[in-house]
Amino acid sequence: MAEIHGNGELPHIPDDLTIVQFMLDTDHPSRPAPRNHSAWLIEDATGRKITFDEINLRTNALANEFSARWKIGKYDSVCIFSPNHVDYPIAVWASFRVGAVITAANPAYTAEELIYQLRTTDAKLLIVHPWNLPTALAAAQRIGMDMDRIVLFNAEESNTKYSHLTLQQLIDEGVKRSVPFIERRLKPGEARTKLAFLSFSSGTTGLPKAVRISHYSVMSNVLQFTTYVQTEKVPDDKKKYRPGDVGIAVLPFYHIYGQVVVMHCTIFVSMSLVVIPKFDFLAMLESIQRHRITFLTFVPPMIVALCKHPAVAKYDLSSVRLIASGAAPLSAELTRQLAQRLPHCSIGQGYGMTETSTAISLPQINQHVGTPGSAGELLPGVVVRIVRPDGSLAPYGETGELAVKSPSNALGYLNNEDATRETFRDGWVYTGDEVYVNEKKELFVVDRIKDLIKVKGYQVAPPELEGHLLELTEVTDVCIVGKPDEYSGEVPFAFVVPSAAALERIKKDPAEAQKLKDKITKHVADHKVHFKRLVGGVEFIDAIPRNPSGKLLRRVLRDRLRAREETR
Ligand code: AMP
Repeated sequence: MAEIHGNGELPHIPDDLTIVQFMLDTDHPSRPAPRNHSAWLIEDATGRKITFDEINLRTNALANEFSARWKIGKYDSVCIFSPNHVDYPIAVWASFRVGAVITAANPAYTAEELIYQLRTTDAKLLIVHPWNLPTALAAAQRIGMDMDRIVLFNAEESNTKYSHLTLQQLIDEGVKRSVPFIERRLKPGEARTKLAFLSFSSGTTGLPKAVRISHYSVMSNVLQFTTYVQTEKVPDDKKKYRPGDVGIAVLPFYHIYGQVVVMHCTIFVSMSLVVIPKFDFLAMLESIQRHRITFLTFVPPMIVALCKHPAVAKYDLSSVRLIASGAAPLSAELTRQLAQRLPHCSIGQGYGMTETSTAISLPQINQHVGTPGSAGELLPGVVVRIVRPDGSLAPYGETGELAVKSPSNALGYLNNEDATRETFRDGWVYTGDEVYVNEKKELFVVDRIKDLIKVKGYQVAPPELEGHLLELTEVTDVCIVGKPDEYSGEVPFAFVVPSAAALERIKKDPAEAQKLKDKITKHVADHKVHFKRLVGGVEFIDAIPRNPSGKLLRRVLRDRLRAREETR
């Protein structure tokens, strides 16, 4: 069996443009409508519409100011630490105008987690929502970043309380500059290696790493998305994606799914994007009704809520034509339940990864409901190999590790050659996912071979938590695995080998066991973002299984826990 190709041909992918030039300055033949179509962004709370002209003006003014005030330029990294905000894409595109790279951080991070990202990427500017300012200040102080390098997104609080400059002030200054900043044009081919994003992922093993994503990678994925959606074989007025549609930006812009699919693909195919800063299920249903949203980009826990929450029936969701789930597995059962509950909606899954700079498959475009349990249909330009354990390639229908070659593939990990060599091999990304593909080019994810745990679609890297728990003197060895969970998909669970002294104390007083478990749980809760907490539990064991060379046999413990859960 050879490699499997996604159906369809890709159009020309520009390799001499940056993402901002591609989005704001040029007319690509695949773009379904003129780029100055109605509103690009809609602020959820106020309904304020932000047009192409306004975005263009704000982006250029901000770029002027970035360049003139701080000389932010080529290779500098700009960190955005904020929930979704209508100026978020503007901050991203302004950074690209001056040649800088964006590293977007989870706004729920603790100061320690933010420091790790700021240090790894050597960020020169920190753009922060006022809600996140205390954490940003703590992090900036500890790494010695100048306080005047912290800029605030505008929110009611930012105008009154803080001394930091706001994005709006910078834009106002930037508009007035008499000598506007001059944007450098790329040489042919340069977009393939010019960095756009440093997005964090733990990949198949180890700690979170900065994934080097080029401008070309993102433009490729946008064009793969656009080409694919245009292959729908129905009259224009029946299509799932139509120019003038309304999308939802409730998934975070800092994660690759929000960054590429939501922020870039939906706008490029001429949708308006309703930007929602905080996920609150009922408020979101309200927003869908109010803005007549047509396209929902979701993760599985949101689908669980759509299927089960009694309030869903109270809202008018008749505007919704398509619901796409991604970032974690959506079971066949949930797909069926949702199809029953909202029969007027098309439903399907996509599959992607930070290292492939997002989607390699999307909901089956020519089916009303995607084949239940399938993670969608391979996109044009995507080639996959299903690799058996002996290295040979599996045919249609047989499982193996998924390896992907796509023009959207990232370039590797920043300053980490070993991890890059392990995952990025000869143009292929080895995903660490066990899958099969059928003859219709539909992808089915069977299991995860890699270390990664996904909690509500968020990444949790077990070695990060293991290293953290080994800081406790009472912990001699530890293994973190994902425990199945109906709502979150998985939750972190710790197998711990207590120290001899701790065991001695437990022997004398069994109540010490619970105290130690509480201490372990608290040690994570005190220092790590909410979804890394040991919600699954803590269990003491005598020894962590390892192979003869000392490598932790995580799957043995994970499968033991799963088997136990299934018999409950
Ligand atoms: P991330 O880089 O955070 O997007 O995580 C990528 C990983 O999420 C993949 O390697 C898969 O393990 C998982 N994933 C993404 N989409 C799906 C899906 N539709 N079904 C199952 N797993 C998925």
